[in-house]
Formats: sequence, C-alpha cells, structure tokens
Amino acid sequence: MLTAPFREANFKPENRKNMPEPTRKPIPFSEPTVGEAEMAAMQEVVLTKALAGDGKICRETEKLLQEMCGVKHALLTTSCTHALELAMLTLELGPGDEVILPSFTFSSTANAIMRQGARPVFADIDPATFNLDPHKLEELITPRTRCIIPVHYAGQGCEMETINAIAARYNISVVEDAAQGVGATWNGKPLGTIGDMGCFSFHATKNITCGEGGALLTNDSKLAHKAEIIREKGTNRSAFLRGEVDKYTWVDVGSSFVLTDMLAAFLKVQLERTAELNTKRLAIWNSYYDGTAALEQAGFIKRPYFRPEASNNGHIFGLLINNGKRDEVMRGLKARGVTAVFHYVPLHSSPYMVKYYEGQTPSLPATDMVSDSLLRLPLYAHMTEQDCQYVLAQLHDVIEQGK
Ligand SMILES: *Cc1c(COP(=O)(O)O)cnc(C)c1O
Repeated sequence: MLTAPFREANFKPENRKNMPEPTRKPIPFSEPTVGEAEMAAMQEVVLTKALAGDGKICRETEKLLQEMCGVKHALLTTSCTHALELAMLTLELGPGDEVILPSFTFSSTANAIMRQGARPVFADIDPATFNLDPHKLEELITPRTRCIIPVHYAGQGCEMETINAIAARYNISVVEDAAQGVGATWNGKPLGTIGDMGCFSFHATKNITCGEGGALLTNDSKLAHKAEIIREKGTNRSAFLRGEVDKYTWVDVGSSFVLTDMLAAFLKVQLERTAELNTKRLAIWNSYYDGTAALEQAGFIKRPYFRPEASNNGHIFGLLINNGKRDEVMRGLKARGVTAVFHYVPLHSSPYMVKYYEGQTPSLPATDMVSDSLLRLPLYAHMTEQDCQYVLAQLHDVIEQGK
C-alpha cells in the first residue's frame, strides 16, 4: 500500500535511533502558491504610482470577482476580518442585538459581533461536516436575534436553503463567512453569494491570496451602497469616482477597509488562477482521502465527509483521530518532519468568552468532540504527490506504532 521510495532509510522506524537527524526539509502545513505573474502585475502598479485603494485595478479585480461568482457587488477589503466587520457595520448592529454563529470558527467571526457591542450566541455543529447544524438553530432565536453567520468550514457549503428559510421566517439577516470557500459552491451556487452578504479571505493561508485581503459580496444594492461608504471612511468617494456625484464628502459613519491597488493587481492574477489552484489542491486532497481509507477501516480515524450538494475546493484535509490520540499523532508527525495542526479552540471555551459569559457558556458536544480530535494535514497547491505520499507513510507509521 505504501510505495517504496517513501520508506527512506532515515525514516524507517527501526533504523531511526542509529541515524542522524533526517536531512529532509520539514513539510510545511501551508504555503502560498505565487510567482512571477503576481509579482509582475504588482510591479506594474508600482510603476504607475497609483498606489492607493479603490482605483482602476481595484475596479477590474472586483469586476472579475463579480463575474466569477455571478454576484452584483464585490467590494475588496483589507481582510476577511474587515469584510465581516464591514457587514456588521452595514447591518447597524448594536448593543442588545444577538447574532448566531458556530463556536467552531476563527475569532474574526465573533470579533465583528463584539465590536458592535452585540452578543454572540453559539450554535453547535454537525459532527459530519463541522458546519452549523441548522436543526439546532431555531431554538437559539429570540426577539433580539438580528443575524446568523454560517461558516463554510473547509470550503464546504452550509445547508443554505434551510438557514435562509429560517432567517426569512424571523426576518433575520444571513452573512456567510466564506473565508475558506473561494471557488466552491452549494447546490451550484457560489459560496458567499447565497445569504444577504458574504465574506471572502485572501490571507496567505487561503486558496487564493494576496497576503492579506478580503471581499464583501452582495446582490443587495442598498447594502452594497451603504457598505462602500463605510469602507471609504464614511464618504461617498466611490460614487464620486464613478462620476455619480460632483464632489465627495462625509455622509455616514465609516472606517478604512479599502485594499491598495498593488494588492488588487496581485489578487487579480490569483483569481484568474482559481480553477488551476483549487484543482491542484483537490488532487492532493483526493490522494489523502484514498491513502487513509485503510486507517478508517481499521477504526483509527474518520475521514472528512462532503455532502453531495457541496463542491470541494480542497482547502483543508482534516481527519478525526479516534481514541483521544490526536495530540500524540500530531507530535509523532512533527518528529518526522510533517507539520500537521489542529484548530480551532472553540470560541465558547476561549478565555474571552468564558469571562464574557461569566462561566455560563453553552454546552456544545459536537463542537468539543471535533475540536478535540481534528488533525489537519499539510496541503497547498504546489505540494508534490511525493510529499503527500511521504505524509501518508508517516501517518500510517505513527498510528500503527501507537496503537
Ligand atoms: C481565515 C478566516 C477568517 C479571517 O480571514 P482574514 O482574511 O485573515 O481576516 C475568518 N473566518 C474564517 C472561517 C477563516 O478561516
């Protein structure tokens, strides 16, 4: 099952203690796949000296994003964190308001709520997909609920029809955290375009990157108009640049979430490579999936599951390691030059939320189970099949030895 070249002498467990430390470079968990084309595009902007944001290139990149996603409005931002904050500002969330979100997510999802003085209400996840469980949603809705933020974990779409239907019944907004979902669909619809608003991340660890960057997507022109004012320091500069008003001025509360045209140029090249980069990631993902079938059959692990409605953009390959052995396996891999990681520490058990909830944090058993057992394997678009097989060989060895 494991092919010969990857059983290098250095790594044969029985030889290991007599061997010098392996000379093989550790396999990183993640690396951006970027090169000459991205650099050239950025250099071109530098030479024009039009470095500010919301300029010509920003417009072109937003247009490309709109076409790719079939969405009316795409606003580039400095990060997904800022896109989420921009969404919450646009909805005018404030003290007394509640927002439902999974606890199994990055702090940014909840920070956007906290910064408005609103209250985060944590929902449990479906232990099969690690996504917000819509069946546990309705019981959390109160007259104060203003918004639901589904997070498309690993680029797998949440059950958006069910979530949207519940939201519509109670007149609640839906903002998708599609940070990991660029290029993926749910029932054929691009993630980030199914709720009222959607947020993308172009951070260095994501499938498509400009180092730090993000976008807010929406089909609602009223929301888009309000958001673009907030993004531009509360001014109507965007309308001015389009020639819709003859001077620009301060019209609302705002901040500065515009992406510089230098990074927009970089991002444009990356976006054009979406199919290529996601296909490469998916090939590695599939090799991991096939290469861990035996471990699942033997009861050591559980492989990731995708619903038939969800397309896979190969963002994360995450395994559940059974019998409480996750940390042991993670350490074993590290000793063999493989950087595998876990996340998240669920937000409801973070020090900040324990304090915020004065110890009365909700009980979320599926979230706790997943976060205690999840292990993510190295995955990036330029990862070689050889490195992928090496990771698999080490995983097999570590698990077989520790059983
Ligand atoms: C990466 C990520 C974010 C934050 O994205 P940034 O662009 O780094 O701000 C938010 N939510 C989720 C689910 C993420 O994975």
